[in-house]
Amino acid sequence: MSAAKIMLGGLGAVLVAFSIWFFWLLPAQIDHDMNVVTAHPPYVISPEGAALHANLRVSDLHSDMLLWMRDPSVRNDRGHTDLPRLREGGVALQIFSSVTKTPSSMNYETNTAESDNITALAIAQRWPLDTWTSIFARAKYHARRLQRLEHSDNEFSIARTRGDLANALDARSANPNVLVGVLATEGGHPFEGELDNIDRLFDEGYRLIGLQHFFDNELGGSLHGVSGAGLTPFGREAVARIIELGMLIDVAHSSHAVVREVLSMTDRPLIVSHTGVHGHCEIVRNIPDELMLQIADAGGLVGIGYWAAVTCDDSPEGVARAIIAAVDLLGVEHVALGSDYDGTVTTTFDTSELAVITDRLLSLGMTEADIQLVMGENAIRYFLENLPE
Ligand SMILES: [Zn+2]
Repeated sequence: MSAAKIMLGGLGAVLVAFSIWFFWLLPAQIDHDMNVVTAHPPYVISPEGAALHANLRVSDLHSDMLLWMRDPSVRNDRGHTDLPRLREGGVALQIFSSVTKTPSSMNYETNTAESDNITALAIAQRWPLDTWTSIFARAKYHARRLQRLEHSDNEFSIARTRGDLANALDARSANPNVLVGVLATEGGHPFEGELDNIDRLFDEGYRLIGLQHFFDNELGGSLHGVSGAGLTPFGREAVARIIELGMLIDVAHSSHAVVREVLSMTDRPLIVSHTGVHGHCEIVRNIPDELMLQIADAGGLVGIGYWAAVTCDDSPEGVARAIIAAVDLLGVEHVALGSDYDGTVTTTFDTSELAVITDRLLSLGMTEADIQLVMGENAIRYFLENLPE
C-alpha cells in the first residue's frame, strides 16, 4: 500500500470517528447533560396519595421533548419525557412545545437575537437541511415528528379541535394508556415575519402560540430581551390572526408590556405555560403577581414549573408549595402543571414520578377535589372550552 493510500485510509477513519461522535454521541450527551433528573432513591408515596393519583387525568402545559432526538416511543434513560414515562405518570394531556431558536449564554435578564444554539443542534441531530437555515422549517419538522408518533402509536393522538380532545378523553376512560397531545410554539419567530406562516403552522396542528422566547422577536419584547417593548405592528397583526384562527396564546416568556397589550386586545383567556409565582419566589423569570392576577381574572391558566429558579425549592415538597402559593394567589381553578420538562432544566422527578406531587399536595393539606383540578382537570377544561370547534 502506498503512503498516500495509508494516509487517505487514516483520514477516512478519523472522519468516520468524528461523524459518529458529532452526529450520535454528542447530541445524546448534550441531551443527557441538559435535561437532568437529580439522582434520588424512589420516593415514598402514601397509599392515599397513590390511590388518588391512579384516578387522575394528569395534564401538563409544557414539554420540550420534540427538541431532542431520543425516540419518544420507547422508555429512555435520559431526559424527562417520552410516551412510556408519560403513561407511567398518569398523564392524559401533554402540551408539546417547539423550541426553534435560543441565544448563546441564555439568561433570564437580557439576551439579543443575534446568536442561535439551535442551528448547531439541528445539524448535530441530523434534522432536515431546511431546518439549518429556516426557523419556520424547524417548527414544521417538530410538528411532523409528533404527527409520526400519532401514526405509529394508536393510543396517542394530537388534539386539533375540542372534539379531538373529548374523543381521546372518552377513549381514555376505558383505556388508561390513551394519551393526547397539543402542539405549541415557544415564541412567534417561526412565523419569520409572515402572517401566512401562522396559517401554515395552524395547518401543521399548532394550537398554542407562545409569543416570545428568550429574545425580542418580530412580534415584540421578550421577558429576557433588550427592549422590554410591547407588541410591534406585526405582533398586533399576528395576535389578531392567531385569535381569528382559534389558536391560543402563551405569554410565558413575554415582556410585561406584551402581556398588558395582549390582555387589552382580547377576551380569550391566556396561558402562562411554565412559570413560578413572583411573591413566592422573587426572580425576574416570574412576572409580577399583579400581572398574573390580571391573567387569572380574565380566565387564564398558569402552569407551575418544577425547576429551582422558578420554585426556589425543586424538591417535591418545594414544588407542591409553589403550586399551593399559586392557588393562594390566583384561585384553584387557574393553576395547572407546567413542567418545562426537556427544556434544559434540572428536576428532582421525571414525568413517570408525578404521583409524588399528588402525594405531597395531599400531605400539605390540599383537598382531593383541588388536587384533581391542578393536576389536570383545569387544563382539560381550558382546552375543551378553548380549542377550535
Ligand atoms: Zn420556556
